[in-house]
Amino acid sequence: SHPVIDVKGLRTSFKTDDGEIPVVNSIDFHIKPGEVLGIVGESGCGKSVTSLSLMGLVPSPTGKVEGEILFNGDNLTRASESKMRKIRGNEIAMIFQEPMTSLNPVFTIGEQLTEALRIHRNWNKKKALARAVEMLKQVGLPRAEELVREYPHQLSGGMRQRVMIAMAMICEPKLLIADEPTTALDVTIQAQILELMKKLNKETDTAIMLITHDLGVVAEMCQRVVVMYAGRIVEEGDVHSIFRNPKHPYTVGLIQSVPDMRVKKDRLYSIPGNVPKPGSIQLGCHFAPRCPHAMDRCLTETPSLKPFENGQQVRCWLYEDAKGAGKHDSAIS
Ligand code: SF4
Ligand code: MG
Repeated sequence: SHPVIDVKGLRTSFKTDDGEIPVVNSIDFHIKPGEVLGIVGESGCGKSVTSLSLMGLVPSPTGKVEGEILFNGDNLTRASESKMRKIRGNEIAMIFQEPMTSLNPVFTIGEQLTEALRIHRNWNKKKALARAVEMLKQVGLPRAEELVREYPHQLSGGMRQRVMIAMAMICEPKLLIADEPTTALDVTIQAQILELMKKLNKETDTAIMLITHDLGVVAEMCQRVVVMYAGRIVEEGDVHSIFRNPKHPYTVGLIQSVPDMRVKKDRLYSIPGNVPKPGSIQLGCHFAPRCPHAMDRCLTETPSLKPFENGQQVRCWLYEDAKGAGKHDSAIS
């Protein structure tokens, strides 16, 4: 089937005193109907700017979005603001990490849930409210008929995130972008919210782009995963291949930092060093300053994304001969 969204050569840059700096640097990916794609990386890797670019929310003229974001036959990087307003919250919806900041404290849950239906579908108040109640039940909230008259502060964090999901799903979007949707929640609630997103994904054809720094969440939710580092895709593949046989040293580091419930460690492994500031590294592999395998050429030449037979792709000089012998083995043991 055709992808819901097909991103080609997406480059998002910002004007600064030091010139124009790319935060997302020529990335390609697509998501198929009903698929859950994970986008992982530490904060500062360009994940959130990628989602803002898809939603048409990069502030101009400071920010500039180039390349192609193909959605329903349109290139969204060229779409007008009025066109994007028709798509946002309707065909592409988004949920964020902190529901309190995205819910308006002065409007009731019902008013906020029905807004998209009244704007995008032109539904009357009664019909929209009935659908809101139905949607609250679908996301597992009790007393839905009373809840629509309540305000965000009357709800717990977990309940608010369920409301946000109901709000995002109410127009049956083709694509749901979830940016760290469970990061602010405690572990039990986090598991419930992931379970709910899985259920909605199975019941509808909505594709999900799940942005997270947590590979545990990816393992739970996604079919495919894109690993981003410093604005670039450094590895991509199906979840099983990535977890069983991570190839890029950054992916290996991320996987080593996932807590293993069976092994009790005093301290969790974390990759030494920090994500470079956008624009601070021009040449070579952006991961080189943190990479235990860095070679001379890594500092001067930028590796390209090399495909393997199983669909996995990796951007690293260790895999220069990707087509050669041992192609399914990691170069790192
Ligand atoms: Fe490490 Fe070099 Fe591979 Fe970059 S290209 S990840 S520095 S080995
Ligand atoms: Mg972020």
